[in-house]
Amino acid sequence: MEFDVVVVGAGPSGLSAAIRVKQFNPDLSVCVLEKGSEVGAHILSGAVFEPRALAELFPDWKEREAPLVTPAGDDAFLFLTEAKAIRLPTPPQMHNHGNYIISLGNLCRWLAEQAEALGVEVFPGFAAAEVLYHEDGSVKGVATGDMGIGKDGEPTANYTPGVELHASQTIFAEGCRGSLTKTLMERFDLRSDCDPQTYGIGIKELWEIDPAKHQQGRIVHTVGWPLDSQTYGGSFLYHLEDNQVVVGFVVGLDYRNPHLSPFEEFQRFKTHPAIRPIFEGGRRIAYGARALSEGGIQSIPKLTFPGGVLVGDTAGFLNVPKIKGSHTAMKSGMLAAEAVVALLAENAGPEPKGYNEAHAYPREPEEKLAVGRAVQGAQHPSQLPQGPVGRHRLFGAGHLSVPGQGAVDVPQPRRPRPVEKSLGLPSDRLSETGW
Ligand SMILES: Cc1cc2nc3c(=O)[nH]c(=O)nc-3n(C[C@H](O)[C@H](O)[C@H](O)COP(=O)(O)OP(=O)(O)OC[C@H]3O[C@@H](n4cnc5c(N)ncnc54)[C@H](O)[C@@H]3O)c2cc1C
Repeated sequence: MEFDVVVVGAGPSGLSAAIRVKQFNPDLSVCVLEKGSEVGAHILSGAVFEPRALAELFPDWKEREAPLVTPAGDDAFLFLTEAKAIRLPTPPQMHNHGNYIISLGNLCRWLAEQAEALGVEVFPGFAAAEVLYHEDGSVKGVATGDMGIGKDGEPTANYTPGVELHASQTIFAEGCRGSLTKTLMERFDLRSDCDPQTYGIGIKELWEIDPAKHQQGRIVHTVGWPLDSQTYGGSFLYHLEDNQVVVGFVVGLDYRNPHLSPFEEFQRFKTHPAIRPIFEGGRRIAYGARALSEGGIQSIPKLTFPGGVLVGDTAGFLNVPKIKGSHTAMKSGMLAAEAVVALLAENAGPEPKGYNEAHAYPREPEEKLAVGRAVQGAQHPSQLPQGPVGRHRLFGAGHLSVPGQGAVDVPQPRRPRPVEKSLGLPSDRLSETGW
């Protein structure tokens, strides 16, 4: 199948890129491949969303009924000890005035509808499994994987061979540590001029809680217990509409305690005296886990190569100090799309290099640099606020891992009964299909 532009991944970045291409040139043919069974199926929902990229993409998003229902309200930032919760000033970059608590999955579904209305072909249920190359080494497109292969590796009756999708430009929007992106980084040496990427894991649960405890719009972030001062991470807790609360826990994957299990730490966090009452009388209705790119702007690789570009989390556009990546993912997708449309209009070769220049904002005045604005706040760790709480590392205070430093010899953490157990709900890893 031949297209002008193929987008791999229907997250916020890929869908925004596809929409922007069509907005700028409706004559270009665009398709989006999504490996989830439907758009939004692989998106970890429940997020505080900064709407400025959306407002640039669709200034009339309210009239179009974008699913932004709950404006952000009270913002609390807590330092936890084992028994106490001490309220601290909310760091400036974590203020959420003007933001919304949303289901990111619903936003992606809505973006896919807008894309289809503009003529984008969205193909859920198809993973791009391989990058295809022209003889000159430039990217030719992608191929989806074969389906209907038995356990023995042989085709079953349902066998369907993979499909090749060729494009003038392929936009890779696979999310954190995309599998095809990794091969592109190696082949085109995209990481030669940036810092190594660092990663965290984020575990999220969606709960329906007792209406008496629900405060629509309330946002709580915590640092401190149960993590020690050497481990990067913290929690978030957002009150959505319909008595729902999304609660999650992020742990930097450079932790040095070999006994530490991010899942178990999350379960311990929910037993804290300030947190546990929120969930008593409630029920967990969804859960999942996903990696985050936490390196910040200095870890963003070269973004272009002959035949394509990287956008969103797969390139590392998460704004670490804000713990937000949806709007930066959208903005990077939009800017990549603009560069791709300009390249195709001018027939100016295979690589939309202008997209790289736009991204190099720390070295340029901000007003000239749109991606700079998109990733505002994803600064170098040295510019970030350090924890006002001793050596505890705040969200956004940057990883402090030192290459070559191994695990430390520490006692195994005590494991209290997780809150679900007392509520009669499963709480072990095996009962969670997300694990
Ligand atoms: C625990 C956690 C909490 C977060 N909280 C917030 C928050 O409150 N606010 C905020 O703004 N951001 C938040 N983020 C970050 C935000 O979710 C991401 O920055 C954003 O989703 C990135 O968008 P993306 O389009 O780049 O990638 P993704 O959203 O990851 O989307 C990638 C899509 O591509 C698909 N895909 C991947 N590979 C392929 C392939 N080979 N073929 C076909 N399809 C493929 C995936 O299935 C997925 O649908 C959070 C992240 C985590 C993990």
